[in-house]
Amino acid sequence: MKHLFFDWDGTLWDFNTNAGLALHDVFHRYDLLSKFENFEQFKTKFHYYNSTLWKLYSEAKITKQEVGVKRFALAFADVKLYDDEFSQLISSQYLQSMTLQTQLLPHAKEMVEYLCKKYNLHIITNGFSEVQFPKIEKSGLKHCFSEIITSEEAGALKPNAKIFELALSKTGANLANSIIIGDDLDADIKGAINFGMKNVFVNMNNLTHNYKTDFEISSLLELKQLF
Ligand SMILES: [Mg+2]
Repeated sequence: MKHLFFDWDGTLWDFNTNAGLALHDVFHRYDLLSKFENFEQFKTKFHYYNSTLWKLYSEAKITKQEVGVKRFALAFADVKLYDDEFSQLISSQYLQSMTLQTQLLPHAKEMVEYLCKKYNLHIITNGFSEVQFPKIEKSGLKHCFSEIITSEEAGALKPNAKIFELALSKTGANLANSIIIGDDLDADIKGAINFGMKNVFVNMNNLTHNYKTDFEISSLLELKQLF
C-alpha cells in the first residue's frame, strides 16, 4: 500500500461538533431564539433539511447554492419566517463560521502525523471547495497531505466513479496501491467497492450494515494496527 485517501468530514474533522458550534454561532448572532422555541429545534430542522437537500445535490438534481440557502429557508419556513435575503445571509455566515471550527475526531492528529511518515496521504471530499480548503488549512494537518481531491473539481460526488478516477490520475496512484478511509457507507464505501478500491470503514457509531468492507474500525487509533 502506498496511497491512503482520507475522507475529511466525519472521518478526521469532527463534523457534528463543528457544525453544532457554527449553528450555535449564527443562532445567537442573529437572535434566532426569537423565532425558534430553542436551539435544539433549529438544529434538528436544519439537519433534517440539510441531509434531504444533500441527497438531491449528490444526485445532481439541485445546485450547491440551493443546498446552502434552502436548508435554512425551509427550516425558517417551518416557523413562518419567509425572508430569502435573511436565509442567504445566514447561509453565508454559517459557512464562514464552519471554516473557523477546528475540532478533530479523537486520534485524528496523531494518526495522520504517524501515517504521513510512511505513506502518501490525500484527501477525497464531497464538501464545498471554498469551505473545505480553509477547514483543512486550519486543522494544522495540511502539510501531511499531498493532494486534495474535491467533488467540485471532479464534477461529481462520491460514490460516483469520476471522483475516484480523478483521485488516481491526480496522484499517480493505482487500484493496487491505494485504499480509501471513510465514515460514509454510501459515499465512501459503496463508492470504493463499485470502483474496485480497497477500503476502511471508520464506524465510530457501530452501525450495522451489509457492505463487504475490507477493514472496519471503531476508532482511528486502530489505523496503527492496519498500517
Ligand atoms: Mg465523511
